[in-house]
Amino acid sequence: MTSKTIFNKILKGEIPCDEVYSDEWCLAFRDIEPQAPIHILVIPRKGIESMLEAKEEDKELLGHLLWVVTKVAKQEGLTNWRTVINTGLEAGQTVFHLHIHILGGRNFHWPPG
Ligand code: AMP
Repeated sequence: MTSKTIFNKILKGEIPCDEVYSDEWCLAFRDIEPQAPIHILVIPRKGIESMLEAKEEDKELLGHLLWVVTKVAKQEGLTNWRTVINTGLEAGQTVFHLHIHILGGRNFHWPPG
């Protein structure tokens, strides 16, 4: 139920965020607990809980979100970055409103923990 999440409150303007990009489909803002010098979240305005709940009708939106990731990363001056989508509790998802992490400004290792 995405309507109860903190990201829904951000979308409704009930709590503030450090916004970096906004359009009719999505919002991007800085993560409150950054794991890299640049850590931004891109979230759809539509309340999709996770990639598990994404539907075929969301294909265009999902493509748009990835395009916005590139747009925002370039806007931040990044040429290297990591994109993360945690899906489900065991994968590390804590907020059940779909979001894409953009992490940049440091080196990353593989495999991730
Ligand atoms: P995940 O663990 O993939 O669900 O990511 C959720 C992310 O949301 C975490 O990196 C949190 O630090 C971030 N977060 C939680 N609350 C806020 C908030 N109010 N503003 C910005 N980022 C937040």
